[in-house]
Amino acid sequence: DLTNPHPVGSRSNHRTTPAQTGLISNKYHLPLPFSIRNSRVRQGRHQEVGHKSLLQSDALYQYILETSVYPREPECMKELREVTAKHPWNIMTTSADEGQFLNMLLKLINAKNTMEIGVYTGYSLLATALAIPEDGKILAMDINRENYELGLPVIEKAGVAHKIEFKEGPALPVLDLMIEDGKYHGTYDFIFVDADKDNYINYHKRLIELVKVGGLIGYDNTLWNGSVVAPPDAPMRKYVRYYRDFVLELNKALAADPRIEICMLPVGDGITLCRRIK
Ligand code: SAM
Ligand code: CA
Repeated sequence: DLTNPHPVGSRSNHRTTPAQTGLISNKYHLPLPFSIRNSRVRQGRHQEVGHKSLLQSDALYQYILETSVYPREPECMKELREVTAKHPWNIMTTSADEGQFLNMLLKLINAKNTMEIGVYTGYSLLATALAIPEDGKILAMDINRENYELGLPVIEKAGVAHKIEFKEGPALPVLDLMIEDGKYHGTYDFIFVDADKDNYINYHKRLIELVKVGGLIGYDNTLWNGSVVAPPDAPMRKYVRYYRDFVLELNKALAADPRIEICMLPVGDGITLCRRIK
């Protein structure tokens, strides 16, 4: 039942949310059309040679967390996850496996100058701050400073707060000023977008100018709670329904954009990596 944020048997014990995890298996007991796994066996689907379903169960996800994520999670990230878990909007936080993925990705691409749109309490921000070098930078934007300040003591204790410039307010006007200024063009190694989904296309129009050629933009939640494959009349939570069309439009637009190469990963709630090529 998509209208119930805490279905029986959900992973409340390790603080993940339907928005992050309601994919791949039918662990939320979603109606058949929602289940990617079940849809695989329906006619006309997935003719990929050698294709294997990766995550077949909730137990497998738990295995990943317990075997490779939690044991290697830095103490400060664990602490931030625990602080965030007590907050009423904790459904918004980045999952621990996605945090680990972002941290590794940033190291692999040697990211130094980065941006994050949508900070909340800062879990993905901390994953980024820990990955980039001492003189690395993160321009972090959120309309809500209070939530950022909830996580800030943990970020300070971790010794990485000096890498962060936090700007409170809507991100779009800031991006417009940066474009107008001119000196920010092609300067970002990595940009993580995890804010208002109805603006992702508007962000993309600007970010494609600001990211380096060869740099990456990561759009988060591009599988949108699994709702991208739901029939229009399927039961959905209100916010899932509201943003669904925007996510669908974004996914189409990214796939058709010749300025980028893309890779959509079923990590968390889906993240689409866009590498600027021109
Ligand atoms: N990346 C965060 C993490 O790891 O916990 C989660 C971000 S949360 C899903 C989305 C955030 O976007 C919220 O904190 C919200 O305040 C912020 N937001 C919403 N609209 C925004 C806007 N127009 N500009 C900047 N931030 C915005
Ligand atoms: Ca997210």
